[in-house]
This record gives sequence, C-alpha cells and structure tokens, in this order.
Amino acid sequence: MEKNIFAKIRDGDKDCPADIILKNEYITAFKDIEPSAPFHIIIIPNKEIKTINDIEDEDVNMLGHLFLAARDIAKIYEINESGYRLIMNCNKDGGQEVFYIHFHIVGGCPLGKILKLPKSSKKKIN
Ligand code: 5GP
Repeated sequence: MEKNIFAKIRDGDKDCPADIILKNEYITAFKDIEPSAPFHIIIIPNKEIKTINDIEDEDVNMLGHLFLAARDIAKIYEINESGYRLIMNCNKDGGQEVFYIHFHIVGGCPLGKILKLPKSSKKKIN
C-alpha cells in the first residue's frame, strides 16, 4: 500500500521534501504547501492515525503533545499574543484531504468568524 504523504514527510522521504520546523518524540510540524493564511503550519502526531474517529483511548497522552507543540510554535513565531486558530478536519464534510490526523495552526492576520456557510447549510441538527 502507498505510504501516506504525511508519513513520508515525517520520515524525511526525499521524494516529499517539506519545511519541517519542529520535530520531537511525539510530533512533527511543517509548513503547509498551500498556505491558507500568512502563517500556516501542519502538526502531526508521529503515530499515524487516519481520522479523529480512529483515535484510541491510549492515544490521549500522546495527542496532548499536539497542543504543546501548537503552544510552542505560536510563541516561537510570535503569534501567541495576536492569536491564531487550530483546526482539525474529519472526513468528507469536514473537508479532510489527507487521511493522517493533523492540526492546522493558522494565523498572522485576523481570521474572522469560524465558518462562512451558505444559508442553505445552516439547518440545525437536533
Ligand atoms: P486537510 O484538508 O486534510 O485538513 O488538510 C491537508 C493540508 O495538507 C492542506 O492544507 C494541504 O495544503 C496540505 N498538503 C497536502 N499535501 C501536502 C504536501 O505534500 N506537503 C505539505 N507541506 N502540505 C501538504
């Protein structure tokens, strides 16, 4: 089976060069190839997990390191005070394109409201 693109980046595969900005025992963080904001970093756990739905109870401590990395990256790049957004998409409606869980840390400008959906998409689920 073809190795996932983020797994290749994590492993330093020469066919998938990436600008890795932080790596430790638990996480790898690198610049998004198509940034959606002036600042856009991807943070993955080193353990490959396809979607949020596949997270296991035993992953809880390890996944906490994604938040620690987000905190540290925001401080290093001095967007911690101005603010930023952490996003994790899940499956089709969530807009997930790469099936290896990851945080997007985006910032560097005012990001506005969390979502801009057409009115037709705003029906509530009870
Ligand atoms: P998703 O839609 O799955 O939440 O986000 C996937 C993100 O991965 C997108 O923002 C996309 O630009 C980024 N991406 C996809 N392929 C690559 C790649 O080969 N290298 C890097 N650095 N980012 C990628």
